[in-house]
Amino acid sequence: MVGKVDHIGIAVADLDETLKFYTEVLGMKLEGTEEVKEQKVKTAFLPLGDTEIELLESTDKEGPIARYIEKRGEGVQHIAYRVDDIEKALERMKEKGIRLIDEKPRYGAGGAKIAFLHPKSTHGVLIELCQRD
Ligand code: ZN
Repeated sequence: MVGKVDHIGIAVADLDETLKFYTEVLGMKLEGTEEVKEQKVKTAFLPLGDTEIELLESTDKEGPIARYIEKRGEGVQHIAYRVDDIEKALERMKEKGIRLIDEKPRYGAGGAKIAFLHPKSTHGVLIELCQRD
């Protein structure tokens, strides 16, 4: 049903500062940064093997990442699983009684179609479904 782990989303307070750690200490390569206005975030992607690390910095005090950091501090915020057909996947989730944050897919960084499942329905993990064409 889901394929690989597409990426792991990490909420950070300061993207530039955090990137120094990921590139200079961990030795990962920055693929690029992108602002996703709809989600009020600036993102940076660092590919690693078959998956990627997505760093997320809020661009707005009221944005979801700002609120997350306020409540829980910096850290792993979501795990994204790759799906082939996100509409079909969401239908299946609905059938199974899973609470959806996004009833319909929207566009995330890199033009991917994404949708989030509510952590209350997934044993505590904010899960992103992600389709890339
Ligand atoms: Zn993500």
